[in-house]
Amino acid sequence: MQNDSNLNDIIVFENVSKTYQPQNDVGIKNVSFSVHKGEFLCLIGPSGCGKSTVLKIITGLEKETSGKVIKPEKVSMVFQNGALFPWLTVYENVAIALQSENVPKENIQKMAMKHIEMMGLGEFTNKYPRELSGGQRQRVGIARALAVDPAVLLLDEPFSALDAKTTDELHRDILKVWAETKKTIIMVSHLIEESAALADRVLLMKDQTIDYEFKITLPHPRHEQAADFLKLINEIRRRFFR
Ligand code: ADP
Ligand code: MG
Repeated sequence: MQNDSNLNDIIVFENVSKTYQPQNDVGIKNVSFSVHKGEFLCLIGPSGCGKSTVLKIITGLEKETSGKVIKPEKVSMVFQNGALFPWLTVYENVAIALQSENVPKENIQKMAMKHIEMMGLGEFTNKYPRELSGGQRQRVGIARALAVDPAVLLLDEPFSALDAKTTDELHRDILKVWAETKKTIIMVSHLIEESAALADRVLLMKDQTIDYEFKITLPHPRHEQAADFLKLINEIRRRFFR
């Protein structure tokens, strides 16, 4: 059998299906794809098509019912609302992730501050989540996810609760993080434009499986009014709504 996986693949799904008990609800069926090390991959598709199920299998929150999954041990997930502890400061919210990874005490401060500063939150170290904007909270979530040095960073519709301008800023931040850390990133989005603006490759999901793959070679920064960008958007849109 033809096998596309190779040494540069950090994640491989081969015919992976997941049914949720007790009612046998289909989460995903026969999903096959691989992710190369350092790649920025987006999963898009309508609500209920199985995007979050794919991420949950990668994190180990859910186990596949059948098929083969190869994935690294250490992955981090960024959730839509940042999922911060409201009673902890920005610093503590990041440090707690390192504590739970048993990082030696003397390294925690350095590693937490490095990532807090990378996300432009240096002056907010002692603030509580309620004192931050939605965009800042999401930056803390990203700093916390990165601080533990995961092999893969997973983001599940991370910007969908934010306004357009903040989303734009966070797109630039996440591209900066990607360039600086060379991390493999998998992001779930339901927005065609967002996925086309960020990813190397977009996997379109439909009916709980992968419907189509778009490879994107446009350089960054991508200009949303440029003709080749609009052409790409149209191509994805046609397939999305087909
Ligand atoms: P998406 O993230 O694309 O919206 P999900 O992966 O959350 O899709 O869900 C895919 C399918 O699996 C949906 O039909 C959903 O109802 C079902 N599903 C997801 N989680 C559960 C669960 N815990 N129990 C039962 N069904 C679930
Ligand atoms: Mg989802």
